Amino acid sequence: MVEQLVIIGSGPAGYTAAIYAARAQLQPILFEGFEAGGLPGGQLMTTTEVENFPGFSEGIQGPKLMKEMRQQAIRWGAKLITDDVITVDFSQRPFTIATSDLEVKSHAVIVCTGATAKRLHIAGEEEFWNNGISACAVCDGTNPLFQNVEIAVVGGGDSAAEEALYMTKYASKVHLLVRSDRLRASKVMQERILNHDKIQVHWRVLPISAHGSDILQSIQLQDQKDSSIMELKVSGLFYAIGHTPNTQLFAGQLDLDEKGYIKTYGKTTATNIAGVWAAGDVQDHIYRQAITAAGTGCMAALEAERWLVEK
Ligand code: NDP
Repeated sequence: MVEQLVIIGSGPAGYTAAIYAARAQLQPILFEGFEAGGLPGGQLMTTTEVENFPGFSEGIQGPKLMKEMRQQAIRWGAKLITDDVITVDFSQRPFTIATSDLEVKSHAVIVCTGATAKRLHIAGEEEFWNNGISACAVCDGTNPLFQNVEIAVVGGGDSAAEEALYMTKYASKVHLLVRSDRLRASKVMQERILNHDKIQVHWRVLPISAHGSDILQSIQLQDQKDSSIMELKVSGLFYAIGHTPNTQLFAGQLDLDEKGYIKTYGKTTATNIAGVWAAGDVQDHIYRQAITAAGTGCMAALEAERWLVEK
C-alpha cells in the first residue's frame, strides 16, 4: 500500500502540517520520532512558559502546547508513529521512509525534523537546565528566575546579540561571554551591544562549570588566553552558540545550504525534489519561532495537497 503523505518530525511544523493534511483527507502518517533530534514534540518540550504563541493570553507551558497540537492532529485522523526514521529514499517513486522495523511507501513527504540548539556540555549543565540554564531567551526570559538579577549569554553572533538585548528588559545586568576577541554579529547589532549600559562584554572567555543549590547561582569562566579561572555570580546562563539542523538523514538527496539547512525555493516550502517539502526550523535559521514553524507546516501541507490533486 502506498500512502499519500508522510510527515517526518513532530514539532509545531510537523503537527500543523498533519492537522491541515488530515483535514484535507490525505490520511497523513506522522513519524514523531523517539529519541533522534531530542524528545517527540521538538524544542518546545524542553521549554517552560511560552508567552508569545498567539491565542494564549496567559501563556502556556511548552509541553502542554505540543500535547494540544498532537491531540488536534489525532482528532482529525493523522496516524502517529512514535519511532525514529533512520533512512529515506527519495530517488525512486513512491518514496521510501523506514524506521528500524517499519518501511512505508509514500507519494509525498514533508520534512519537519527541526534543529537542535547547540550546548556546551559544561559541568552542572544537566542539573541546572531549565533552572537557570536555557538555550532560548525569547522563550524563557520572562521566567521569575531572571527578573532583576545578573545573567550571562554565551556567543558572539546575531542570536547572542539578540538574546543579550532581549534580556536587558528583565535582568539587572547582562554579561555577554565571547570566546574570541570579536563579535560575529552584524555591525548594527554590535553597536547596540557595545553601547548598551546594561551589557558587559567579556572577551576570550568560556564557561566551564555551573554552580548553585536548587537554582543556578554562579558559573566559572576560563580565560582563553592564560587559562585563568574566574567566578561570575549569575542566576541565568543562556546559550546562543548556534543550532544544528537535523538533516543528516537527507544529505545527498535534498539540497542543503552551507550550514546544513534544507534549501526551499521561492516563497514556498518546496525542496529540490518534487513531492518533498520542508517546514519549520529544518529550513529556517533566521526566525526559528514556534509560530513561524507552524506557519510553514501549514504552507507545506497546502502545497502537498495541491500537488497530490494535480497528480
Ligand atoms: P552564528 O553561527 O552566527 O554564531 C555563533 C556564535 O557562537 C559565534 O560567535 C561563535 O563563536 C559562538 N560559538 C560557537 N560555538 C561556541 C562554543 N562552543 N563556545 C562558545 N562560543 C561558541 O549563530 P547564530 O545563531 O548567532 O546565527 C545563525 C544565523 O542566523 C546567522 O546567519 C545570523 O546572522 C542569523 N540570525 C539573524 C538574526 C536576525 O537577522 N535578526 C537573528 C539571529 C540569527 P566564533 O565567532 O568564535 O565562532
